[in-house]
Formats: sequence, C-alpha cells, structure tokens
Amino acid sequence: MAKNTQTPTLKILPLGGLHEIGKNTCVFEYDDEILLLDAGLAFPTDDMHGVNVVLPDMTYLRENREKIKGMVVTHGHEDHIGGIAYHLKQFDIPIIYGPRLAMALLRDKLEEAGMLERTNLQTVSPREMVRLGKSFVVEFIRNTHSIADSYCLAIHTPLGVVMHSGDFKIDHTPIDGEFFDLQKVAEYGEKGVLCLLSDSTNAEVPGITPSEASVIPNLDRVFSQAEGRLMVTTFASSVHRVNIILSLAQKHQRKVAVVGRSMLNVIAHARKLGYIKCPDNLFVPLKAARNLPDQQQLILTTGSQGEPLAAMTRISKGEHPQIKIRQGDTVVFSANPIPGNTIAVVNTIDRLMMQGANVIYGKHQGIHVSGHASQEEHKMLLALTRPKFFVPVHGEHRMLVKHSQMAQAQGIPSENIVIVNNGDVIELTGDRIRVAGQVPSGIELVDQAGIVHESTMAERQQMAEDGLVTVAAALSKTGTLLAYPEVHCRGVVMTIQPKLLEELIVRTIENFLTERWSEFTHGSNGSTEVSWNALQKELESSLQRLIKRELQSSPMVLLMLQTDTPIELDQVPQSISVASSTPTPRKKVVLTKTPEPKVKAKPEKKVVTTAEPSGQPVSATKVYRRSRKRSTTSVSS
Ligand SMILES: [Zn+2]
Ligand SMILES: [Zn+2]
Repeated sequence: MAKNTQTPTLKILPLGGLHEIGKNTCVFEYDDEILLLDAGLAFPTDDMHGVNVVLPDMTYLRENREKIKGMVVTHGHEDHIGGIAYHLKQFDIPIIYGPRLAMALLRDKLEEAGMLERTNLQTVSPREMVRLGKSFVVEFIRNTHSIADSYCLAIHTPLGVVMHSGDFKIDHTPIDGEFFDLQKVAEYGEKGVLCLLSDSTNAEVPGITPSEASVIPNLDRVFSQAEGRLMVTTFASSVHRVNIILSLAQKHQRKVAVVGRSMLNVIAHARKLGYIKCPDNLFVPLKAARNLPDQQQLILTTGSQGEPLAAMTRISKGEHPQIKIRQGDTVVFSANPIPGNTIAVVNTIDRLMMQGANVIYGKHQGIHVSGHASQEEHKMLLALTRPKFFVPVHGEHRMLVKHSQMAQAQGIPSENIVIVNNGDVIELTGDRIRVAGQVPSGIELVDQAGIVHESTMAERQQMAEDGLVTVAAALSKTGTLLAYPEVHCRGVVMTIQPKLLEELIVRTIENFLTERWSEFTHGSNGSTEVSWNALQKELESSLQRLIKRELQSSPMVLLMLQTDTPIELDQVPQSISVASSTPTPRKKVVLTKTPEPKVKAKPEKKVVTTAEPSGQPVSATKVYRRSRKRSTTSVSS
C-alpha cells in the first residue's frame, strides 16, 4: 500500500492523441495498478515509405506490464481501438471493457491477428459500472458521436472521479434515437468531478455542430437530382451516415452495391447489432448492379479521404477492375477531408471530374457534419461537470489552447489546467495538478512484416530521396584489391560520368588500404587477424563522403567486401554475413566472407591491383558473383 509519508497521487499519462488527431492512448496509474483507456493508431504520412500503421511508443507499458489490470474503450473508431491487436503481441491486457459495436469490431481485428485468446473482451451497457483492480471503478455513460455506441467515462479513483468525454458532440436528435445521457453527467457534476479530460477536435469552431439529422434533406436533394449512376463515399465507421445513405437509397429505389472491405465489415456488424435496419434485398453484389439501369444503382464505397488503396481513389485513377466512371455519373463525397488528406481528396475529385462525373462535395452542400463538439457544446459539458482540474485532449496544440481558454472563461483557474504532450506524466493529488515528468513518447511504425525501426525508416527515406550505390570489392588478406570493384547505381542522379565515379571509388579504396590497412590488422606474420567489420564500416564511410562530395547528393552506399579467396575456382564458396555490432542507422553493412579452402592455392596469383584493371581480376570477380548468388543468409545491421 501507499508509502504513508507521501500524499497519494494519481498519474495520468497520455501516450498518444495529443498535438495530433490519432492514436489516442491514455494510461491511468494509482499505486501499482494501471488502467489503459483506448489504444488507437494513426495513419502514416507520405514520407513513411511502406508503413501501414503508426502506433505510440509503448515502452512505458512494456516496462510496467505487470501493473496492467485492464482496459476500457470509449468507442470503435480506429484512433481508439486500432492499436490493441499490436500491443497484445507485446504485453497482456487481462480484460477489455467496451461498448457493443467497438467490441464486435475489435473481436474481428484480434481474430485476424491471432490475438483473440490473449485477452477477455467484455461488452458493457450504458450506466454499467466495472471494477479494475483495487483502485478503479469505471461507469460508462452514453454520448453522441459519428459512430454508434459511443461513451463518456466516469473513472472512480481513490482521489475522486475523473471524467473522460470520449469523442463526442451533443446531438439532440440522434439518428439511432440514443440520446446523450446528460442527466448522468450532471449528476457527477453535482457530486463533484476531480478532473475532466475532454475532446478538443473542434474547439476552434464557434457555435454548435449541427445534428447528424441535418444532412438528410441535403442528401435527399442530391439523390433526387442524380439521373445516372450514384456513387457515394463516406467514412466506413460513420454508422449513422451509412444508415442515412441506405435509407435514402431505399426511398429513391436504388439498389446498393457496397465496395471496400471496411465498409462491408462495419455494415455487417451494425446490421447484426441493430444499428442499421434495412432489408437484405436492398443490397446487390457489384456484378449484379451492372445489369440494373443506371438510375437504380447506388455504389457505396470507401475512399472519402483519398486513401491510395481505397475503392474511390482507384475508381478515380481508372484502376478499379469493375467500376469505370461514365458521363452522367454522380459522385457524392459525404465527408470532409481530415487535415493532411486535403490534397489527396482534391486530386481524387479532379480526376473524377475529368472523366465526366458530376462530383458533389464541400461544406456548402450540407452533406456532411462533424462528429465532434463545437465551442458551445464544450461549454455545456464544462458547465455540467464543473471539474476542479481540466486537461484538454484529442487535438492539435492550438485546439488544446482554445479549449483551455474556454475552461478558464468558465471559471477554472489557469493553474488547475494543464496542456500536455504525449508522454507527459500528469500528477494529481486532491488539491494539485502538475506535469511531473516524461516517459518515452515517440512513435512505432508497422509495415506488413512488423515493427519498422527508426534506422530502417531512415534507410528507406535515404534510398527514396537519393538512391543507392553498391560497391562490391574483393580484398586479399594482405590488404590489396583482388579485382576491379563492381559499382552499381540505382535511382542516383549522375552529375559526373559513371566511369569517372568508378575510377574515383577505386582510387579511394586503394588509398584507404595503403594508408589505413594496419589499423585493422593485429598479430604478427602467419597469424594476422583482420577486423573486417571495422574495416568495412570505415571504408564505407570514406566512400559515402566521396560520393556525397562528387554527386552533391547522399545516396545510400552499400559496400560488400569479400575476403581473400585462396580457393580453386570450381569450389563453391559459402557466404556468411557478419552484422556490425554497433547499429549504423543510415548505412547497411554486409560482409561476405569465404571459408578456409580445402586446397590452398597461391594467393599471390590472384592479387590484382587497380593499376592493372584489365588484367586478371575476372577470376576473383567470378568468385564474388557466385558467392553473392548463394549468399542467402546475408543480413544488414
Ligand atoms: Zn477519436
Ligand atoms: Zn471517434
């Protein structure tokens, strides 16, 4: 139990979701117990080559895994549940509580990742309370948001109640008839809320976010004006919007073909759970839709954010195997671009228009509303909860600042508000809030194969920006070149003649060997040891400097060395690789080495220097090539 000399403190550590929109992940810690609240992902930026998913740095949870008592989930958006399947590979979460739709979507994700057995998923109902460990009891309170089944949380701790808004707007006419449980929120306000953490996404937007219902008449108008085929794109997870689109399709007697895996998945779950109600015969497979008259077709797709692999993006590029845009098609973007996606979205719209589609998009059409609260709703939540302390979350820095200003205007003193960054440790006592330190808070990148380390990403960026130069050189044990080195450039802008570059590389290697060979050798005659790894690293650096100077760019330089090869040419050399002990983030290190020969040949015959480049090198080069072909175990550090 507590070290009784100290005031008990509650720690709140947001690991993601601050100064950004995405990967919301928050840790609550009291005594030696941890409660995790949401664990989302973010999507990569353009320079994160090959990366599929961005996660917060989970070092803190990995190191404190034994403290984790369980997790609570506010709703089923990717920026709140998308990280869980990845984290379960690294540490256990004994139990996860969340709303029905979020748990159904999460179950799919865990199943796909083979992680379903690693935790216990528990569905909760509105106003249900769950206990986690000795320190936490959490009540789930329904709110309204763009996805169905979304919650605020009241987290009872030994120090008092901390409320978390989840993602919310205050929609008084929700599509599913499930109202924001403001009475419950007010009840907590009446009893006393120690701290409120609240969604800041639209804190810069004055007024009130219109109800989801407000898009119905506008979409209805667009649907009634469309004469040909109708294609509609929105967020797959916007269950209410999808519901509206499906109802209007029914009203306008169009059959719906759903395109895109996430859209199919969400619709299937939402129908099963009763959030979307429509007859089976409203849907047709895409192939069958093509046999219907144009004015009876509606294609509902993903791709509202211009995501490169999504259906609408591929349709716009003419790359979709089954859907080609025709004159007379109406394409509706029932979503606004998330900042960062704007260029991809406008490019998609341009391409669709160029192919003859009538594209309906933009704020003035009234066919999209946000799922997040505007300023007047924030004021309402602050007024109802009247928290002692306030932490704006879920937003970029300026949104957090705006939100904190609103809280101050409502009487919360500035010293009771903290604007924090990912990794900050918020420390709460009954009468003070402060930032008491930092835990690791970077990002973890994931591609098809797994975690992409920072050094790997740096290598990808270097290759993408400046290309790759490989140099293959065979060296004798006495420090001479056995053959004329092979140089290959890929994706490199050549500002000098390739032949000249090759000659400069050869000269650099020769000079290096003449001047520095002794640095890498130990022992005396007969038993001389060569530090090949160190030599390779240093020589590669020299080549890197040369190439940078000559080409005025920094391609990745990959130097492959082969050691002395006193072997018969018909003997098949077996390559081994030696990874450098110290990681070199912007360089790859591959060292190929042939084993001791069974029959000793006379090495001096093979010693070839570049002074005679067209002499004997062929033999050694051949050996190198053959060894490379068989070098399946070569790895880089
Ligand atoms: Zn969110
Ligand atoms: Zn959300």
